[in-house]
Amino acid sequence: MSKQKKTNSYQRILKYIKPYKYRFIVSIALAIGLSFLAPLRPLWIQKTIEDYIQKGAIAPYLSKTIWSNELVQAIIWITVLQIGLILMETLLRFIFSFTSAWLGQNIVKDLRLEVYKKIMSYKISQFDKTPVGTLSTRTINDIEAINSIFSEGFVPILADVLSISIVLISMFYVNWQLALISLAPFPVLLFATYFFKESVKKSFQKVRLSVAQLNTFVQEHLSGMSFIQTFNLQEQELEKFKRTNSLHKNANVKAIFAYSVFFPIVEITAAISISFLIYASIYTQVNASILVFYFLSLNQIFRPLRFIADKFNVIQMGMVASERVFAILDNTEILEDDPTIHTHLKEEKIKGKIVFQDVSFFYKPEKQILHNIDFTVEAGEKIALVGPTGNGKSTIVSLLNRMYQHQSGIIEIDNKKIEDYNLTFLRSQIGVILQDVFLFSGSIRQNLTLNNPDISEEQMLSASQLLGLHDTIMKLPNGYDFHVMERGTLLSVGQRQLISFTRMMLYNPQILIMDEATSSIDTESEILIQNALEQLIQNRTSILVAHRLSTIQKADKILFIKNGTIAEQGRHAELVAQKGLYYNLYNSITQE
Ligand code: ATP
Ligand code: MG
Repeated sequence: MSKQKKTNSYQRILKYIKPYKYRFIVSIALAIGLSFLAPLRPLWIQKTIEDYIQKGAIAPYLSKTIWSNELVQAIIWITVLQIGLILMETLLRFIFSFTSAWLGQNIVKDLRLEVYKKIMSYKISQFDKTPVGTLSTRTINDIEAINSIFSEGFVPILADVLSISIVLISMFYVNWQLALISLAPFPVLLFATYFFKESVKKSFQKVRLSVAQLNTFVQEHLSGMSFIQTFNLQEQELEKFKRTNSLHKNANVKAIFAYSVFFPIVEITAAISISFLIYASIYTQVNASILVFYFLSLNQIFRPLRFIADKFNVIQMGMVASERVFAILDNTEILEDDPTIHTHLKEEKIKGKIVFQDVSFFYKPEKQILHNIDFTVEAGEKIALVGPTGNGKSTIVSLLNRMYQHQSGIIEIDNKKIEDYNLTFLRSQIGVILQDVFLFSGSIRQNLTLNNPDISEEQMLSASQLLGLHDTIMKLPNGYDFHVMERGTLLSVGQRQLISFTRMMLYNPQILIMDEATSSIDTESEILIQNALEQLIQNRTSILVAHRLSTIQKADKILFIKNGTIAEQGRHAELVAQKGLYYNLYNSITQE
């Protein structure tokens, strides 16, 4: 991490405090206040011992009249006040810890929301580059690490350093020779702290890395469970899991080892300090009250010291995490929905004429995918894209609703460039049914209406009946309230497809794109789906990436896509007569 970057990250993180600046100020004020309170008690106890106990002032009065004695009364008062002081300190400490943690949690909440929103606005191409596991680690784990910067980092360290400094000053103020002697073992502690910090840092980096690996591994293997079981890969995959799991354990054990060495070293150093103190007091003949003061002060130094190195680690980890999170926020590859592009969202509807003019496209510059694609679809026409796999059919349709941006040529809808439409509007006019149907976890009703309040129950039911979905839904437990699991695993492929058709019927776009699944389904569903599709494409401009002959034959125009170009185009009968590529494809399908 460069120094410049580091300072930027610090400054940027501090910006998130802004909405909570008063609480932040309170916590800083408390930190300062508490550090001044720290040496107060030892100093006062020292004074009490010196003035009241040590001089033997009260000894003669230790009799029946003790409670009436004013010295004794003074001591009682001092004790009560000391207890009061402790209670006050505890209360302030509570407010301080609570405020710091509260601050951390609120900043995390804000930051997480910002990151989530940002990821939602990413262009689809960004998801081709970044694994889902990485993005979820950023939104969840990394931001949690930033939380600790606030709850355990900045201000708590400031509080510790301040109170240690003030205690040190008071120690030198009372008796600088004794302070020097009792602090003589300190350099050992500094070394120990340094090595501890470095070792823990390394281990924690490994821990984080292996946590991410474990996350990704489990995520991938859970979603691919049926695949793993089908191919009997459990044993082999278990070995991989064991390895990552061990890495995680080893890294953690190393960190624990560092802690187990470091804490006793602090204890021993503290003990040595005290023995130095006692030894010195024999020669310098300091009085007992001073000794008690140094005991208490040393305790107040060592207690926070034990954790301060740890807190620095926490900050460092948080900073590394924040760099990663900020990288997500700084990504400029996002959807630009220009609000200045004027479109009446609800009222206006497009007619649905589509023109591709000399359109070329690549995902990566080194591999051109589409070459000079030219075609026109009049409003209400249905065209079919056919051709061998991996030749660019899905790519063509993904340009139309601007999932990807073509590099050259013009794509127009109703004689207006697609870039000149408001993106939200554009997408509201183009419905896309993808090769694999996406279902949210939720009820079938929610999956059909997408929680759109404008869609009435009657509309939903009539669409569902029209497309032949209704009967299969009524057979499910709870009917339309049947709970669909993630990705719709509880439903058959045909059911899922009918749901996605009905959903589209309700979404009611002017242009329909369908990327048909290659896999064929049983004949009964086939007929059902074919009928549903015919209902769906009525009165809409449709582009169908088709594998099913019945769909292809009925198209107004067929485009045969090969190597990212339109190799042949025309109606079914014309293309068959040409006896070219389409003719061969047609023969191969009909022979099946
Ligand atoms: P199929 O009939 O199998 O669905 P297709 O004709 O729809 O095939 P496309 O999905 O358009 O084929 O793919 C065309 C080419 O683009 C392929 O070589 C593919 O590897 C590549 N490709 C597709 N999606 C991406 C992507 N997101 N990033 C990079 N390359 C891609
Ligand atoms: Mg495809």
